[in-house]
Amino acid sequence: MNAAQLVEGTPLEAGSPFDMRINLGKDVPETDVRSALQHGDVGFLHSFTTGSCVDGPGVRLVAWTTSCMFRCRFCHNPDTWTLSNGMPVAIGRAVDELRKYANGLKVMNGGLTISGGEPLMQKPFTTKLFAAAKQLGIHTALQSNGFYGAKLTDEELRDIDLVILDMKAFTPAQHDRVTGIRDNKPVIEFCERLAALKRPMWLRYVLVPALTDFDEEMRAIARFGAALGVVERVEVLPFHQMGRYKWERLNIPYDLEMTEPPSREAVSHAVEIFRSAGLDCP
Ligand code: SF4
Repeated sequence: MNAAQLVEGTPLEAGSPFDMRINLGKDVPETDVRSALQHGDVGFLHSFTTGSCVDGPGVRLVAWTTSCMFRCRFCHNPDTWTLSNGMPVAIGRAVDELRKYANGLKVMNGGLTISGGEPLMQKPFTTKLFAAAKQLGIHTALQSNGFYGAKLTDEELRDIDLVILDMKAFTPAQHDRVTGIRDNKPVIEFCERLAALKRPMWLRYVLVPALTDFDEEMRAIARFGAALGVVERVEVLPFHQMGRYKWERLNIPYDLEMTEPPSREAVSHAVEIFRSAGLDCP
């Protein structure tokens, strides 16, 4: 199969990122994969979803990329960890999709969000799609774990109107516990660089009972976020089990099987921690 071809019978759009999609790019030759990663003429996407009101301001078209370097224990979309689970989509096809919704997105004060997976695992494709969106006058948001933020040049950052940074933890020990990667310095440094460049950010924090609901971690993130001076909003996302079936079907050991969503009180408590640092946390 040519890397630019869509996978027969699989629509580019999904009802939701919680749809399970695997092996859509498994037949793409290795040389085409390498070329795609180097040049960004083709991206590997779980899907596009339309009409999202939770992935940035207004109503969003969201491109869900595949491949991620983290292994978050609470990940809702482990099918996006592997590049070859994504559908190969030529950049021109992705831009056509964007153009289709351009007017509607503008009217609804929304835009394009590129999420994942981790979009910066496919940085050339991600930045090409953002550049095309800016040419169409569309607001752009990158939803990222921030680990590869240093790969973005200042010029590429100018095409990104908003960075929605998923903060997994503040201390290296907790970062390791949550993601399997101890070194979170690149994430911290990316945030500091965005602050120095005065680029707007949102922070997101997934609240998981007995895994991330630690006051000290949240206070440290809140203090750090407030000091950046560019964080417009913090979103506390209550853990849920909508992705559990994916872990089971992918045969990946899932140790949050018995974990319940946090209580309303626990969510309010977390929100209060961010608010008391002076951050806007709806
Ligand atoms: S960074 Fe996102 S996609 Fe990657 S493992 Fe964590 S939650 Fe999943």
